[in-house]
Amino acid sequence: MHEVALAQSIVDIVREQTKGQTFGAVTRVFLRIGALSSVEPEALVFGFDSAARGTVADGARLEIVRTPGTAFCAACGRDVQVAARIDDCPACGSAQLLITGGDELRVTELEVA
Ligand SMILES: [Zn+2]
Repeated sequence: MHEVALAQSIVDIVREQTKGQTFGAVTRVFLRIGALSSVEPEALVFGFDSAARGTVADGARLEIVRTPGTAFCAACGRDVQVAARIDDCPACGSAQLLITGGDELRVTELEVA
């Protein structure tokens, strides 16, 4: 389950970013997860809750924003959105898609109390 490792690295990022700051706790962690990243949000939330226990992120809620997969079609020259890596071009049906985005996992914002 790579979500456990991911959850751990998110907690590490939160700890790194809050080091030396004086506030009560982190209440929300905003995340961007690309549609092509093969991360299961439910599993990530579950892993995060246990990885955060006893840290500054204990009890924080993960706010997950899914970003679409994007690709460039070498056949018709369009930039298109795809839901999976194996998708064909929604405009022309070609399989010659080059994935250009949508596999990121990024902490974008922390809300603290
Ligand atoms: Zn196309």
